[in-house]
Amino acid sequence: MGLIIAANWKMHKTTADTEEFCRAILQDVEKFAGVEVLICPPYTSLPAATNILGGSSLKLGAQDLHWEQEGAFTGEIAGPMLTDLGVEYVIIGHSERRHVIGEDDSRIRAKVKAALECGLKPILCVGETEAQREAGSTNSVIRQQLLSALEGMAAGDMDELVIAYEPVWAIGTGKAAQPGDADAACSFIREVLAKYAGEEMADKVRIQYGGSVKEKNIDSFVELSSIQGALVGGASLEAESFSALIQAARKAV
Ligand code: PEP
Repeated sequence: MGLIIAANWKMHKTTADTEEFCRAILQDVEKFAGVEVLICPPYTSLPAATNILGGSSLKLGAQDLHWEQEGAFTGEIAGPMLTDLGVEYVIIGHSERRHVIGEDDSRIRAKVKAALECGLKPILCVGETEAQREAGSTNSVIRQQLLSALEGMAAGDMDELVIAYEPVWAIGTGKAAQPGDADAACSFIREVLAKYAGEEMADKVRIQYGGSVKEKNIDSFVELSSIQGALVGGASLEAESFSALIQAARKAV
């Protein structure tokens, strides 16, 4: 299974910043062969990114979507609006949405369903807080988040699914998980998926690690057989550092 590395820009970059980044990263695209690379800019930058990256091997993701396909939901963005812009992936249940915006498991489940209905591939984020890890509940939190989000999902849809294991305490803190802990959590995720949909389907799901991934530490995650890529925040904001990170990942597998 090839690596999938996604840039999550969060609430950063204007249209001009996006254009500059996309033009720069395109210069290095041949150095990414074999790695699926996606850029997830804010909604407002999607048209600029699609104009520049369209036709290249770099793909586009969105950072969220609404659970309905259209309707009276002021300020929200629906899946068909994203596919219309050439978006292929969508991040769902990022910890900032769970813990800062207050999104709950039922909303996340509805968003996974909405994404699949309009042909978007979900990147479903799961992960424990520091207090949950200290209380020894990492696995039970992950199991609950996964089973709740996937409830009702057909096993046949699993090959479109990407799971990002992102321990909340590692996101944006500079304190990445120990590779051994990430390995244990990602192996556990695959066990839960296998119980849910069977081993054959579970083996098709790519699992990313996310949380303070940089050029210097990406190798220690992607060399693990339980991990097939990374969801990257801070280190994805500059084309140069993101490109270096992708190249380091490629060398490590
Ligand atoms: C993220 O945004 O999902 C993330 C992992 O951020 P960072 O790489 O900055 O920790």
